[in-house]
Amino acid sequence: MVSQQSGQLPHYQLYIDGQWRDPAEGGAFVSENPATGQGWTTIADGQASDIDLAVQAARRAFDSDGWPERIPQERAQMLRKLADLCLARGPEIAKLESTDNGKLITEMMLQWRLIHELLLYWAGMADKIDGRMIPSPLPLDVTGTHLPKCFVYTRREPVGVVGAITPWNSPAMQIAYKFGPAMAAGCTMVCKPSEHAPVSTLEFTKLVDAAGFPPGVFNTVSSSRKEVGAHLAAHRDIEKISFTGSTAVGQSIVRAAADNMKRVTCELGGKSASIVFADADIEKAVTGVMAGIFAATGQTCMAGSRVLVEEQIHDKFVAALAEAARAMRVGDPLDPASQVGPVSNRPNYEKVLSYFDVARSEGVHAAVGGKAHELGGYFVEPTVFTGVNNTMRIAREEIFGPVASIIPFNGEDEAVAIANDTDYGLAGGVFTESISRAHRVVAKVRAGTMWINTYRLVTHLAPFGGYKMSGWGRENSLEGLDAFLETKAVWVPVE
Ligand code: NAD
Repeated sequence: MVSQQSGQLPHYQLYIDGQWRDPAEGGAFVSENPATGQGWTTIADGQASDIDLAVQAARRAFDSDGWPERIPQERAQMLRKLADLCLARGPEIAKLESTDNGKLITEMMLQWRLIHELLLYWAGMADKIDGRMIPSPLPLDVTGTHLPKCFVYTRREPVGVVGAITPWNSPAMQIAYKFGPAMAAGCTMVCKPSEHAPVSTLEFTKLVDAAGFPPGVFNTVSSSRKEVGAHLAAHRDIEKISFTGSTAVGQSIVRAAADNMKRVTCELGGKSASIVFADADIEKAVTGVMAGIFAATGQTCMAGSRVLVEEQIHDKFVAALAEAARAMRVGDPLDPASQVGPVSNRPNYEKVLSYFDVARSEGVHAAVGGKAHELGGYFVEPTVFTGVNNTMRIAREEIFGPVASIIPFNGEDEAVAIANDTDYGLAGGVFTESISRAHRVVAKVRAGTMWINTYRLVTHLAPFGGYKMSGWGRENSLEGLDAFLETKAVWVPVE
């Protein structure tokens, strides 16, 4: 599992078939601390052959070891034990995660409490997966022959072996979102965490092992190579891919899955709009917009990166937002007083800096920020660009950093038209004191989650997912369970 020899960085192995082991062909990569840019741990560098072993183990656990046939209460009990372990070890893993991906320790502490709760939710769901009884159908078959009266019912069965591919921005939360319903449903799983922040998933895996999940039911193969994720997506021995990540990779996963018609759910990127109407409570709107774009250093799929502001209040709102952004405490993610941490890794840091150049070339004005932060590491300044129009690249492409683009609008129809003028459809916010307008506008925006006078509230109790190029399917809640089930219709004559 995790080993450390004196003077060496701690090292994590792969977890396959209930065993911690080195990759078949050896090899490791270094995971960096984004606050310093320094390597802090080494990670086993799995390859396609390790994915094959993990799929074989998950296949056996599903097909012949009886995992799906276990009574649901047994699976629920393991989920409850895991939930307790997550609560107990959460604070410690939260620190490791902050070190690995730069997320604020305050948010990580909360995430582990939420992981505890969501696992309990899925434990409670395990014995509530039932079918339907269908009213007796017309007793004729396709040839017109009379059949005896039949009793028809449905069974909801686990979809099978699931490949889970996760991103770096909230890795533990993302694997928990997939693991909970998959285990409640009776699936087995092979997880491939992001190369940029694998540690919390490997720590979660230790807890899965300690909770008593049988060998092969859950396997984790870390890797620095994108082709290893692609190998899992294309694998013919799995029935489903549950993916969270960028739209471009989501598209390649969908193509790879077509080969054996895998079920695919995709939680992808976004370019969500926070719409601030002239009648909004400015203080509430500033708070909501800030949560939308600066929380998690803007590295959230649901980031409210386009801020649509009604012309009458444009200058007043921008001044208030810029002042609040300037006052944010950027600093060490492990310091509970910090409000903005570093960008999580070098490629994303370079990407955010490149968008500062794009913004300059598009001629927009930085009301605040617009450059790397003096703290060094992968820190950037919280940024508010004004004078943006919706055709510019900074308004169309996912920047994945603390960068708000202010776009003025005139009236409700124009606000909705701009909000919907994007390839994405993940989320959005509406800020207004008019209850009628709020409900009118949320109904018209084509996005999977909308908030009114707030932003970035999420819970496993509500479905989450995208319209358009923000994804396929939903995670969490009852819809999230359906994504791990097949439905079988059973006919039996009763005459
Ligand atoms: P990414 O798409 O680059 O990588 C995600 C995962 O896919 C990683 O594990 C990566 O190794 C793997 N991967 C890369 N290429 C692959 C391939 N060809 N085949 C199979 N797997 C492959 O995304 P990222 O940079 O890790 O994460 C940021 C993205 O994730 C953003 O676009 C963000 O919006 C999105 N995201 C969406 C949600 C959501 O719920 N909608 C949540 C978090 C993040």
